Amino acid sequence: RTAFDAEQIRKDFPILHQQVHGKPLVYLDNAATTQKPEAVIQAIVDYYRHDNSNVHRGAHALAERATEKFEQARVKVAQLINAAEPREIIWTRGTSESINLVAASWGRSALKPGDRILVSAMEHHSNIVPWQMIAAQMGATVEPIPVDSTGTLDLDALQQMLDERVRMVACGHVSNALGTVNPVERIVQLAHQAGALCLIDGAQAMSHMRVDVQALDCDFYVFSAHKMFGPTGVGVLYGKAALLEAMPPYQGGGEMIESVSFAGTTYNQLPYKFEAGTPDIAGVIALGAAVDYLQGIDRDAAEAHERDLLEYAEARVRELPGITLVGTAAQRAGVLSFLIDGTHPHDVGMLLDQQGVAVRTGNHCAQPIMDQLGIPGTIRASFCFYNTRADIDRLVEALVKAKQFLVEE
Ligand code: PMP
Repeated sequence: RTAFDAEQIRKDFPILHQQVHGKPLVYLDNAATTQKPEAVIQAIVDYYRHDNSNVHRGAHALAERATEKFEQARVKVAQLINAAEPREIIWTRGTSESINLVAASWGRSALKPGDRILVSAMEHHSNIVPWQMIAAQMGATVEPIPVDSTGTLDLDALQQMLDERVRMVACGHVSNALGTVNPVERIVQLAHQAGALCLIDGAQAMSHMRVDVQALDCDFYVFSAHKMFGPTGVGVLYGKAALLEAMPPYQGGGEMIESVSFAGTTYNQLPYKFEAGTPDIAGVIALGAAVDYLQGIDRDAAEAHERDLLEYAEARVRELPGITLVGTAAQRAGVLSFLIDGTHPHDVGMLLDQQGVAVRTGNHCAQPIMDQLGIPGTIRASFCFYNTRADIDRLVEALVKAKQFLVEE
């Protein structure tokens, strides 16, 4: 057991204190989206009650307040991930849009026929499909970096694949399907040695660990507010300023321009060049509140608590006969993926839900790795620092019942 006081932390998350199907909710679907602390919910309410106004253009008090809070959030996110400057933080709708932005904008201006893009074989569809789309337009290819049966990336294979035609290596920091923590610092180094850029998908990392983009030296780092205690509808693209400067705009519209005429239009400076149209102002401000919340907790203790939860869950689930863990890489965070022999993950998920235990089942938007492992999907319990050993006991109890119901013994 660790010093982290999860019971106290739980009080900050109103949604956790409810019954589902007559049982106290056990929320173990944090990889899909995390719950929101009161401070984040309040930030959204406060914005609409007091400050609602469009940003960057109004000449009145509300617009000034909204703009200031909106831009403060950018500074907070820049500090959280140690970006060199706030203008390296671009607001998007989520991880998916951040990757689409880089693929479309950088890809359109930089890729040539025969160029190669490498992505790990365990990527989320969001870090595969945007690359496939731009590769098809530009005559480039997208190739998987091999992953072994434990869910560990094969760094030797990556080294062998790298050559001067590889222009981009795109890899998840933490796998949402298996929980694997990839050695991203090493991956960035290898990509750079070969002259390629490196994008890290941090969607699953931000809630579990501290991230320093300058230490990583990655060219792009992307994540979603909703997976780190903020609202849905907001995401972040971090990019090195020099690269973002060189990239053409992604979408056209208001806000992203400097001057518009039919003779020719010039574009705004960073970060606004990539932020066409009215953004999700309340969402951005609420993400700022989520960052404040994260900065206010003891991250070392939270990480230790999460490690304890994962180890405890793995040990308890392993005790049950007929259970196979999927993804047993040495470095993992936040996710326990498994199968119960003779059952379909979907049926198990429904029976867990009836007992108040929320997990996710299916391929977790990572069909290629499921195909490689020869399985249709998994049952995935994903943890957060507000979970407790008692939650895991409830999961195990519910699994035993589900198994009794589904498997004739
Ligand atoms: N990458 C990873 C690793 C994810 O877990 C997710 C969300 N499941 C995404 C990308 C996509 O994020 P979003 O749906 O918020 O755009």
